[in-house]
Amino acid sequence: MPISTTTQTILNVSNRLPVTISEQGVRRSSGGLVAALRGVPDRFDLSWVGWPGAATSPQEQDRARQLLAREKGLVPVFLSEELVEGHYEGFSNSSLWPLLHYMPEKSVYEAGWWEHYQQVNRLFADQVLAQVSQGDELVWVHDYHLMLLPQMLKSAMPSLRVGFFLHTPFPSYEVFRCHPRRLELVEGMLGADLVGFHTFGYLRHFRSTAMRLLDLEAEITQIRHESGHATTLGVYPIGIHASRFEEELGRESFREGLAGLREAHRGKRVVLSVERLDYSKGLPRRLDAIEQFLRTSGRADEMRFIFIAVPSREGVEEYRRLREEVEGRVGHINGLYATIANSPVQFVHQSVNFTELCALYALAEVALVTPVVDGMNLVAKEYVACQRETPGIDPGVLILSEFAGAVEVLFDAIVVNPYDVQGVAEAISRALEMPREDRARRMKAMRERVLRFDSSWWARSFVSDLAELGAGRIPETSAQRREGVAELGTQLARAVVQGRRIALFLDYDGTLREIVRDPAAAAPGEELARLLRHLEGRENVDTTIISGRTPEDLESFLGDFTDFAFIAEHGASVRRPGTRHWEHLDRNLSYRWKDEVGRILRLYEASTPGSFIEEKRTSLVFHYRRADPEFGDWKARQLVGELEAVIANQPLHVRMGRKIVEVTVSHINKGAAVARLLEDHSYDLVLVAGDDTTDESMYQIELPNVISLNIGDRQTQARYVLPDPAAFRRLLEGPLLVESSRP
Ligand code: UDP
Repeated sequence: MPISTTTQTILNVSNRLPVTISEQGVRRSSGGLVAALRGVPDRFDLSWVGWPGAATSPQEQDRARQLLAREKGLVPVFLSEELVEGHYEGFSNSSLWPLLHYMPEKSVYEAGWWEHYQQVNRLFADQVLAQVSQGDELVWVHDYHLMLLPQMLKSAMPSLRVGFFLHTPFPSYEVFRCHPRRLELVEGMLGADLVGFHTFGYLRHFRSTAMRLLDLEAEITQIRHESGHATTLGVYPIGIHASRFEEELGRESFREGLAGLREAHRGKRVVLSVERLDYSKGLPRRLDAIEQFLRTSGRADEMRFIFIAVPSREGVEEYRRLREEVEGRVGHINGLYATIANSPVQFVHQSVNFTELCALYALAEVALVTPVVDGMNLVAKEYVACQRETPGIDPGVLILSEFAGAVEVLFDAIVVNPYDVQGVAEAISRALEMPREDRARRMKAMRERVLRFDSSWWARSFVSDLAELGAGRIPETSAQRREGVAELGTQLARAVVQGRRIALFLDYDGTLREIVRDPAAAAPGEELARLLRHLEGRENVDTTIISGRTPEDLESFLGDFTDFAFIAEHGASVRRPGTRHWEHLDRNLSYRWKDEVGRILRLYEASTPGSFIEEKRTSLVFHYRRADPEFGDWKARQLVGELEAVIANQPLHVRMGRKIVEVTVSHINKGAAVARLLEDHSYDLVLVAGDDTTDESMYQIELPNVISLNIGDRQTQARYVLPDPAAFRRLLEGPLLVESSRP
């Protein structure tokens, strides 16, 4: 659907609605996501679906519902206390969060939490679906609390355009695979049309996980499903609400706050850390580095390390333990290095207000941001935003962990490995000694990027991509071709009724029946067998079944249909109706090339674990379905390159198919075999139908009575398209059940 200038609805879905409900009523909060969404262009009409917090009893919920009904665009999903505990504290924060942050040893799993996680995702799905009317709305789902939601929405309403953004890292497959529900979680995310990440690294891990767990085909930024649905992957590093910081820096209250802080810390060199008290933020190691710095620098008296540690998830045991550990270490360091004049570490276990925060950022000579893993880290960007050039004051220095997503934008920082305690200690010294020009140059470059790529830019990019993706999802021509299929059904029915001569050339796997993993299990199911028997019974319909399989393979499950013709081995072998004899159209061809090509394939087989070679009479095939998907793809591409060079002057053709590389003789193809059979009789109507690239040769037959149809959403030259084999079987069944007017 083209994007027009009329408004389009976006339902923004996150675990938490941006509101606080209290005795006084509803107060809208101003979190980062709220600010970011202001960047969404005006042509979108935004509503927000989420849990309004606190209200868990039925009475509280009734009151909250009444209050929220007066607020425009807020749709509450109410959760009981038990659900919140299982879904939020349990599954989301005790099971998923540690794993997404590379800490499988901290990840706990309880079957009851999984039940609650599914229930909550289902409640969200119900609420979203209750909001949609046209089915052309955009839905933007946020974060790891709602990983199952995209698929729930997509299966209930395929026309919805669903985006999903993961605000955390996505870890390597080797870590993610530890989760007992890994498959369901990835399948859930893949229901989305667009999945966004902060960095390409996370995208790459997700893609690799999906390929490995689900055996799906993937390009760099797109994953294709067998159903035809495709998920696009994108990188959208979130930014800060830059204008809010800019405005704050101009306020009198900020200037007063900063002056107060300067007075309080006069003569001290301030190094600042700000974070939620979370084990991903690397506090214990940072304290080790500070201790080492204090021990070796001899500067304990002039230093002031300020830690703003915002209390977080205190209901979760791991977080309580972390707090005790950090407080213990702070006490230990101050015990060693405090004097009457100074305590080097000032640990503030509470949040500060926005003005105080900005003043602290502006005050600090160094920001020490050393998470061991962090999806983005906004604190680093906020520090940079508050380091506005001020005459007479040296710009600050950012020390940033290489494990924070933010490092991809803030590469002018002093980048450290937080696990290297000595290295971080040295970085602190280096920052304190950095000359003014160097500081200014680095800060200026970072600040420009932080202000430019802010949170509005982030939301605008994601939403625009999601909207455009929808617009281009079904190319207009393809949509028209889908609509035209009804007309084709009528045309077929009419031809059958009028007793006209009809030829059907039908590819088997992927066209008449769904692709199955095990090729040996591809015998026709009951429904297809019934359809084929109907076809056989039609006097005026000649049916040819086409396949890339060997004659033996085809005969093993279709051989009894002796009224059909068969084309096997991509057109090399033909069995005409009424016989069991196969004719080889390639009998005059030489197959000496197989020696040379086979030698190359065997080299690749030996160096690609899980691959094997199949020798068909007319072709050689390198199969890599069982190889590591990424390694297999890479080797297959390499192989194609090598083969193309070797066969350049021979009448051979190299083809990459579904997890295969096949070398065949170039003038043997399905189209040529169909053309050969068409020479035998004349027909009023010919339908050729297929699904993969080897079927394109059939669609190229240019005769006025030949109609082509392709199954799936691949780019194709076929005149008509249908989504799947089931739809194709239905198309054939209609005309076949119509009674012929002739005996
Ligand atoms: N922050 C806050 N109150 C404070 C200190 C910090 O609200 O007392 C904010 C800070 O401004 C930043 C956010 O908390 O926007 C932390 O975001 P970040 O991406 O650094 O880490 P996260 O908490 O999302 O893991």
